[in-house]
Amino acid sequence: MRINGDCIACGQCTPYCPVNAILEGVTLYTIDEDQCVECGVCMHSAACPVDAFFMPPESLVYPRSLRKEYSDPGKPHPSTKGIGRGTEEMKCNDVTARFKHGEVGVAMEFGRPGIATRLSELEKMTMAMAAIGVTFEKKNPVFALMSDPNTGCFKPEVKNERVLSAILEVKASAEKLPLILSAVRKVAQQVDTVFSLDVITRVGDDGEIPVLPAIRQAGFQARPNAKINLGLGRPLIP
Ligand code: SF4
Ligand code: SF4
Repeated sequence: MRINGDCIACGQCTPYCPVNAILEGVTLYTIDEDQCVECGVCMHSAACPVDAFFMPPESLVYPRSLRKEYSDPGKPHPSTKGIGRGTEEMKCNDVTARFKHGEVGVAMEFGRPGIATRLSELEKMTMAMAAIGVTFEKKNPVFALMSDPNTGCFKPEVKNERVLSAILEVKASAEKLPLILSAVRKVAQQVDTVFSLDVITRVGDDGEIPVLPAIRQAGFQARPNAKINLGLGRPLIP
């Protein structure tokens, strides 16, 4: 994103930027292009009285284009054609059925408005997960960032790109959950951003949540949430 010479330095736009990338000036405001995640909020807010915001063509050229794909909910991801997070969320498991009994899904959403994330921070987690032997969700745009899913390494050109948030989704056997949670704790000490952690499982036939003991044993506070299919989508039971 850029600001053109029509800017009258009124300052109306600055509260709208979720990463404080708009720099104050005496006669002209500018954008810190290294910090900008190309979310487009400044422009779409229509706060500017002189329409000074514009998206230069180079903002849409790969790898910079990744910023907009991960930060602007109106821009689809080329690898999944999805918008927003670019993936069918794991919590919709009763519709998508991607996790069977005995499996767990683990999701980590990196970055948030106010802090964002470099993709290199996310790579620390994909490398740790690959070392455990998890399966990365292929219908998630993060998969396309990797040069090698066996190591979790990202393509060199994407690492420095900065995005508002990106969600990593993996699947593993339930026995691997303690290993995964231990690795998550370790990587959490190394990343320069925030992330949330979800564990997804199917409830047992007895109504129990089979992964809760492992989560509590690993020192995490579990806050169970359920999503119930009321007949929409593709129900698991024919
Ligand atoms: S595009 Fe988003 S991150 Fe960039 S200056 Fe505008 S509001 Fe801030
Ligand atoms: S709102 Fe427009 S005119 Fe005012 S400081 Fe921002 S870019 Fe400049």
